[in-house]
Amino acid sequence: MLVIALGADYDLDADGGEIAFDLFLGVPKHVAPVVLHNSGLTVDGWVPVDFFTLETSHRDVYALGDCTSVGTPKAGVFSEGQAISAASAIVARARGGEVQRYDGSAACYLEFGHDQVARVDIQFMHGQPPHGALSGPQHDLLVQKADFGSSRVRRWFGRDWVSY
Ligand SMILES: Cc1cc2nc3c(=O)[nH]c(=O)nc-3n(C[C@H](O)[C@H](O)[C@H](O)COP(=O)(O)OP(=O)(O)OC[C@H]3O[C@@H](n4cnc5c(N)ncnc54)[C@H](O)[C@@H]3O)c2cc1C
Repeated sequence: MLVIALGADYDLDADGGEIAFDLFLGVPKHVAPVVLHNSGLTVDGWVPVDFFTLETSHRDVYALGDCTSVGTPKAGVFSEGQAISAASAIVARARGGEVQRYDGSAACYLEFGHDQVARVDIQFMHGQPPHGALSGPQHDLLVQKADFGSSRVRRWFGRDWVSY
């Protein structure tokens, strides 16, 4: 089994031309890594996958995150949910059991300063218009946001926050 999670590269040559600016905050156009194009896995520039299981058109080959055309925004919070579904699909193939189908939902925190944090819960369900809800800004979401970050560090690196 293969899981492709190569992210996206920047196409720095796209959209040439010059822009006059005092302060410019720009995000370059994203493209799938060239190795994926060369492998023949891309369609219209991205790797198509089954929305619910993240399996590609090739059996036992999964792709997730920024390199896919799964239909959710290219953000880590969505990649994380996709990884959980792909992992559960692989476990189900190997041992049987339920697949935790991807549901396109994620949450994002917004800092307002003065210890005020808001949270957006949003869902991009396959075939349906996206919908979301805003909570806050409020103080208790500051604690929740800190826990969101530290729980990932603990899970991924097996330890609490340290200064890197
Ligand atoms: C400045 C910035 C801020 C962001 N802030 C947020 C945020 O606040 N919240 C949020 O949810 N998302 C955020 N994102 C988006 C988030 O980082 C991406 O959506 C997420 O990391 C995508 O995960 P991924 O696993 O698909 O790819 P990546 O995390 O990009 O991982 C791909 C990996 O594959 C490796 N790779 C690529 N090609 C090859 C190769 N040929 N061989 C071997 N390895 C290879 C790369 O080195 C990389 O480690 C931000 C992105 C940027 C750039």
